[in-house]
Amino acid sequence: MLFLEITRETFWRKVRDRVTLGKDGMLQPELEILNEGDLAEGKIIGVDLGGTRVRAVLSTGTGQILARAEMPTQADQGLEHVLSNIKRTINRVIELADFSNLVGMAVGAPGPLNPFTGVVFSPPNLPGWNNVPLTAILEKATNLPVYLGNDANLAALGEYTFGAGKDYRYLVYITISTGVGGGVIEDGRVLMGARGAAAELGHMTIEYDGPRCNCGNTGCLEILTAGPSIRRRAIELLETGYPSKMKQMAGGNLQNISPELISEAAHEGDEAALKIIKETAFYMGVGVTNVLHLYNPEIVVIGGGVAQIGDMLFEPLREVVRERAMPAFWEDVPIVATALGGDIGLYGAIALVLQNFEEAQERKQELAFVDEAGA
Ligand SMILES: [Zn+2]
Repeated sequence: MLFLEITRETFWRKVRDRVTLGKDGMLQPELEILNEGDLAEGKIIGVDLGGTRVRAVLSTGTGQILARAEMPTQADQGLEHVLSNIKRTINRVIELADFSNLVGMAVGAPGPLNPFTGVVFSPPNLPGWNNVPLTAILEKATNLPVYLGNDANLAALGEYTFGAGKDYRYLVYITISTGVGGGVIEDGRVLMGARGAAAELGHMTIEYDGPRCNCGNTGCLEILTAGPSIRRRAIELLETGYPSKMKQMAGGNLQNISPELISEAAHEGDEAALKIIKETAFYMGVGVTNVLHLYNPEIVVIGGGVAQIGDMLFEPLREVVRERAMPAFWEDVPIVATALGGDIGLYGAIALVLQNFEEAQERKQELAFVDEAGA
C-alpha cells in the first residue's frame, strides 16, 4: 500500500517536472487513467484547487478513482488564467465519462470562502481572486451541479468517508503544512458554523503572547507549528550556537534548512532537531487538548507534510494530551496520521458529492432545463 502511494507520488513528481505545451502554446494538464474499462461509468468529478497545483479526478459512485488530471495552477498569472486552467483540468476527466452518468462535481479550495453561496473570497495564495462565484462559473461551463468546500473541511470529510475515520461519526482533522487548517465531523456531517467558516483550528490561540500570526492574532497554532515556523525555530536555535549537524546538512547555509531536513536530522538522532520536533509536538498537543475538550471527537487525524515526521512527533504529542486533557476526553481516542496521503482533498471532494447525491441528480436536470431554455 505504502509502496503504491510512493510510486504514484513519484509519477506525479515526474509530471510536475515535465512541461507539456499544446498546439495553442498553453501548458497542458497531464492525464493518468487508472481503470480504462469503467471510465464511462464515472459519476463524480472531484477537484482540488491549490496554490501550486490544480487536480481533478473522475470517480465511481462509491469513490473509486478511475482517472486523474493535474497541472500547475499558475496562481501568479491571475484569476482568468487560473480559471482557464481549472476548466481545462476538469475537462480532461469529464470528457472520459459518459455525461449522462455524471452526477456532480465538488471543488476543494483554499479559504476564506462561503460553501453555501459557492463564492471564494480572497485566498492569500490565489492573488487577484476577490469574491469569485466559483460554483456558478463551473456550473455554467460544465452543466453539472457544483459544490464548494474549504480544503481542510473537505479533507476532514474525506478522512471520515474513506480514511482513518471510516468507523467513527465524530472526527477532528488537523492539517499541518505551510499553513494549519482543520475540519470537524459532527455525527457524520461537516461542522459548518453560521457562515460556513467553523473549525478554523489553525488560528486557535496556543500561546497568548506568542509570535504574531499572519491572521493578526498572536500565538496561533499555525504560527507555532506550520512548516515555516518549524524552520524559523530551528534557524533561531542554531544561531545561538546550539550543537547540531543540521548546518552541515544544509551545506553550511542556515537558510537552506527545511522541515524535511529537520525531520531527517531528527531521525539520525540530532539533538537540536529532536528539540525542535518535541517543541512542535508540545504546541500540537496543547491544540489537540483544546479540540478534544471542545468537540469531544472519537478520533483525531493529523495530515499535511509535518505529520509525515511520524512517531517522533506523535509520541510526545500524545504524551502532552495525556498530561493535559481530562481522561474522559482522551481515553480510547486515537490520535493518528491521515490514511489518505496527498489525495485527501480529492477524496473529500468526492465525499461532498456523495453527501449531496440525490440533490445533485435533481439539480443536474434543472441545469439541463435552464441550458435548453437559454439556447
Ligand atoms: Zn492566526
